[in-house]
Order: sequence, then structure tokens, then C-alpha cells
Amino acid sequence: MKPVDFDYECPGDLDSALALMSDAGPSGRVLAGGQSLGPMLNLRLAQPALLVDITAIPELKAVEPEGDGLLIGACVTHAAIEDGAIADVTNGTLASVAGGIAYRAVRNRGTIGGSLAHADPAADWISCLSTLGAEAVIAGAAGERRVSVGEFMDGAFETVLGVGEILRGVVVPKLSSTARWGYYKFCRKAGDFAEAIGAVLHDPERNVARTVLGATNARPIVIDGPYEDDAVRTSIDTLGSDIDSYDRQVHFVTAKRAAMIAGVRAA
Ligand SMILES: Cc1cc2nc3c(=O)[nH]c(=O)nc-3n(C[C@H](O)[C@H](O)[C@H](O)COP(=O)(O)OP(=O)(O)OC[C@H]3O[C@@H](n4cnc5c(N)ncnc54)[C@H](O)[C@@H]3O)c2cc1C
Repeated sequence: MKPVDFDYECPGDLDSALALMSDAGPSGRVLAGGQSLGPMLNLRLAQPALLVDITAIPELKAVEPEGDGLLIGACVTHAAIEDGAIADVTNGTLASVAGGIAYRAVRNRGTIGGSLAHADPAADWISCLSTLGAEAVIAGAAGERRVSVGEFMDGAFETVLGVGEILRGVVVPKLSSTARWGYYKFCRKAGDFAEAIGAVLHDPERNVARTVLGATNARPIVIDGPYEDDAVRTSIDTLGSDIDSYDRQVHFVTAKRAAMIAGVRAA
């Protein structure tokens, strides 16, 4: 199948992109790496009248310090992060998660912002960045607003982005040198989308401890406080009858392995 006809614009700055998106209203769609949107267009799951390609906007490809953390532009690719082309404020965490996304051809084009905006619950960045306590920077005609990445997804394939808004980037806080981190992705073969994700962060110097369960049927579940088996089991119970006993066990074991990798739980 081929996409429906659409107009295409490739603005060179964010204000122009926002103006195009605002004029187009609900019939406008942002195009970043095209790794998810391309198939959706071909299958006619998406039928925009206007595609606004944001990959020529320098601001969205920039990486700048913010406080002691980093503002990563939405159009920074998974490959750039994997290759260490951006400053490392997370003790190698971002690079290692990036390297586990799909395969290199997808990582060369797919972007961190596109992954978040697509809001697939099984994607890696939404779980990883929720655990790190990152913030999404959203640009719109009325200005800029910020939400925590943990609250960026409203549900599967839904986000808090309003009509005409563009995700400008994410602010990732700096981990202290003693921070402990574990990320475990359960999938059938390397580089696949996850069936379950566990991520654990203990950063006592910053007074941060968090466990995240990802690749559920909705946005990642964020559990604040030091890792505990019981807290994980209680959170899995909130998924109710949407999830069978096998999947519950997979989510539990995935979180437990992340805690073991972080060194905050014995084997
Ligand atoms: C074979 C294959 C395997 C994959 N495996 C994995 C995997 O293991 N883990 C994983 O995490 N991902 C995986 N992906 C997804 C991949 O990471 C994509 O890069 C990502 O989902 C979308 O990023 P993109 O830049 O290509 O966005 P696009 O496809 O261009 O856009 C996706 C959606 O986000 C919107 N959008 C994009 N950027 C913005 C923005 N800045 N502001 C507002 N809206 C925006 C678009 O309008 C569209 O609705 C896989 C993809 C493929 C094709």
C-alpha cells in the first residue's frame, strides 16, 4: 500500500515548524527519523495532509549543558548517543541503552524525540528516561512547557503533546559517580522491541532511588524509593486482569535482574 497524498515542508528553524504545525492543526504531522511514521504512512494508519520534516532544524539536533545535566535535542539519533557523540552525564547509561535499540540502520535514523513522541510502551527511551528522572521540553505556539518523562505518555501511543506542539528535547540529570544503574530488557532476540523492561537507579548522593517497569500495556510504572521485590509485585498487581500470570512473572524477573545488575539486590 502507498501513503495518501500529502504536502511536505522542511523548515530550517523551530518557529517556522511551529507555525506550519499550528496552521495545519490536526492534519499536520511531524516527521523525524521516519522509522515508525514511515510504516504507519504506508499502511495508511496515519493520513496527514502535511508532513513537517524537523530534521533540518539545528536547535533540535543540538546538545547543551543545562544545570549539571544535559538538554538533548529531539532529533539526536540513537546512533549518535550509542557512539558517544554527546557528553556522557549518565556514566555510560544512555549509550548502552541506545546500543540495544533495534539494529544499526534503525539507530542511524531513529531519534530520541521520535521514540518518545511515538509512545510505544515497548520502546526503550521512555523507560530509561523515566528512571533517570528526565524532563521533556515541549514547544508550542504559546511558548514552552516541561513535563517529567514519567508523565509524558498518557497511554499506549498517546502523549501529552497537544495539536501543533513539537517535542524540543529532553533534559537528562547528571548521575553522581557512585550511582548504581541496572537496565534489563527481555526480548526474544537482540535488538527486538521489549516484552518487559526493568530499570533500577540508586543514587544516594543525589537522594534518588527509583525502579521502573516498562513495556507494560501503558506508560512505564515508576516506583520511587530503594528497590524492593514486594513493591514491584504490588505494582504489577495494579495492571489487573489485562496481564496474565506468565507476563506478571516476566515483569517481576526483569525488574529483579535490573536490580541485580545495579548491585542493589543479591542474586
Ligand atoms: C525494525 C524496527 C525495530 C525497532 N526496535 C526498537 C527497539 O528495540 N526499541 C525501541 O525503543 N525502538 C525500536 N524501534 C523504533 C525506533 O526507535 C524509532 O526510531 C522510533 O520509534 C521513532 O523515531 P523516529 O525518529 O524514527 O520518529 P518518526 O517515525 O519520524 O515519528 C514517530 C512519531 O513521533 C512523532 N514525532 C517525531 N518526532 C517528534 C517531535 N520532536 N515532536 C513531536 N512529535 C514527533 C511523529 O509525528 C510520529 O507520530 C524500532 C523500529 C523499527 C523500524
